Amino acid sequence: MKELNVPVLIVGGGGAGLTASMTLSSLGVRHLLVSAFPGTSILPKAHVLNQRSMEIFTEVGVAEAIYERSTPAENMRATGWYAGMAGDHEAYGRTLGHLEAWGAGYTDPDYIAASPCRTCNLPQIRLEPLLRAHAEKLNPGNVRFHHELTGLKQDAEGVVATILNKDTNETLQVRARYLLAADGGRTVGPIVGVSLTGQRDIIKMVSIHMTADLSPWLHDDDVLIRWLVNPSFGGSWASGVLVGMGPEHWGTKSEEWVFHMKYATDDPDAMKDENVLARMRATLGVKDLSAKVHKISTWMMEGVLADHFRKDSVFFLGDAAHRHPPTGGLGLNSAVHDAYNLCWKLSLVLAGKAGDGLLDTYEAERKPVDKANIDCSIGNAMNHFKIDQALNLSSDKSAEDNWAELMPLWDDSLPGSAEKKHALNAAIASQTMEFHHHNVEFGYRYHSTAVIDDGSPAYVPLDPVRLYEPSTRPGHPLPHAFVEMQGERVALSGLVASGQFLVIAGEQGGAWVEAARTLAQARGLPIKAFTLGLADSDYIDVRMAWLKNRAISARGVIVVRPDRYVAYRSLAEHADPEAELASVFDSILSVSSDEDGSLAVARAGSVELV
Ligand SMILES: Cc1cc2nc3c(=O)[nH]c(=O)nc-3n(C[C@H](O)[C@H](O)[C@H](O)COP(=O)(O)OP(=O)(O)OC[C@H]3O[C@@H](n4cnc5c(N)ncnc54)[C@H](O)[C@@H]3O)c2cc1C
Repeated sequence: MKELNVPVLIVGGGGAGLTASMTLSSLGVRHLLVSAFPGTSILPKAHVLNQRSMEIFTEVGVAEAIYERSTPAENMRATGWYAGMAGDHEAYGRTLGHLEAWGAGYTDPDYIAASPCRTCNLPQIRLEPLLRAHAEKLNPGNVRFHHELTGLKQDAEGVVATILNKDTNETLQVRARYLLAADGGRTVGPIVGVSLTGQRDIIKMVSIHMTADLSPWLHDDDVLIRWLVNPSFGGSWASGVLVGMGPEHWGTKSEEWVFHMKYATDDPDAMKDENVLARMRATLGVKDLSAKVHKISTWMMEGVLADHFRKDSVFFLGDAAHRHPPTGGLGLNSAVHDAYNLCWKLSLVLAGKAGDGLLDTYEAERKPVDKANIDCSIGNAMNHFKIDQALNLSSDKSAEDNWAELMPLWDDSLPGSAEKKHALNAAIASQTMEFHHHNVEFGYRYHSTAVIDDGSPAYVPLDPVRLYEPSTRPGHPLPHAFVEMQGERVALSGLVASGQFLVIAGEQGGAWVEAARTLAQARGLPIKAFTLGLADSDYIDVRMAWLKNRAISARGVIVVRPDRYVAYRSLAEHADPEAELASVFDSILSVSSDEDGSLAVARAGSVELV
């Protein structure tokens, strides 16, 4: 049997595993990725990539390729609700509601102020090949598809995994210090005794991926997701959701589509392909729709969380750690964010610069965020029923009665017209919980030993879901600002790259900068330190975006982790900045420094890096 020794073994070549691989490569950490299937996903599944994911993809060098292929901003500015799509009734296809979504194609000032990266949209079938190609380029020969993990043992030194090469039938034994389980929860969890618990049977769904020309029946070219509230089928989840998949044209002229719908669990024949297609044609209202069907797949809306994100040397990320309804697009995005959170910590521990305690902060930080994402996604799925309630639609009513409920929307002379319009508008406005949940997907905060509380009053959000409020309070993401050095303009978040810490002092905080440089030298830590202000500083706050949010005085300082999270803040100067920063980094990195400056690092240092 062939044997291999690597610091990190990644199991799974989906969004989580491939992001972990690209990140580890950019941090210089040697690793092997194995993935069971011959290729990446054959299902379009996830598609919206939020601003934080795009920041991560920018850092690892794949964002440009993604933006190039993704939906033009003008075709993903909104989401819409419609009275079905086509059919005999005069009101078929009429717009019930139209809502700005995902930062309105990067025209919403809050999204522009939050990040230099715009939200984009690219279905998983087209995204993953780009991620795979880039991961392979960064780590040639060590991103191996059609390789399945079939056995796993843990010991004091890490893990020993058995990998089957499904092309040759050969078995490989891999010893690794750490294993990242990015396998969607299929294999590693059951072996090491980590299970996912929560709500399993929320709604049973079927998805049809097809090529079809639906442009004759569609309007609103700025809409990405269409919610077909077809009165003949009783309303929202009882009808279906239509999502354009491009690839060359988007909006109403998309060549490919995915149609998601709920199906009856009590009918054993409901899932036969011919019944699914007949039901889809009926719901769309085009009985002779010509469509080339690529794939019909069934899935269950669920909300489950792993009881542990770490079991000794094994870490769980992506769907292996949490699964949620797709409403809100948090599944793939949180998989990408998990991967990034873990990888910079692994790189420092493997380099002997941080202690094992830093790895425990992965669960402490990500589990609450992923739990909140589950709750949010379930809430979003349920919130769609508000539209049915506002319209008084029900699958128990006849089609005729359901249509009659809709007509006051378009005929002021019918009784209750004004009230119904108001109720529908309110129900549509409530959907901002899903389509503008900027604070959930971008503004989430961390609490752990790698964040040092500065004793300032706890953050009380104006709107915990929708409104991201930039803040430098420890645990918050670094606010975005464009800054200049020698005339060159850069995004502040762009300086936090490749495992590098930032020490950002006010314009009179030179003592902090000196202290940080001394510490970086003494410990061999990647720390970039500078002053930032309106004048007389290393970087110039050209648009005063930093001044608005920094909260520190001209003599204060902010320490930012490599993942763009604020770890420490001092509003003013300190009597001994060197000692203060040494103790700050001890805490973040989970090490204790002796008086002579030497470090005690638990369980690290024995593993080779490239
Ligand atoms: C219909 C549908 C629609 C969705 N829509 C959205 C959406 O709009 N937005 C969103 O954010 N999320 C959405 N999701 C969820 C999203 O697809 C997942 O959250 C995401 O794919 C998780 O990525 P992952 O890398 O963690 O896992 P996966 O993509 O499941 O990848 C797991 C990988 O592990 C490999 N693997 C498994 N077992 C082994 C083994 N023993 N050895 C080696 N490799 C193994 C597999 O080959 C695979 O490559 C949707 C899901 C579904 C089903």
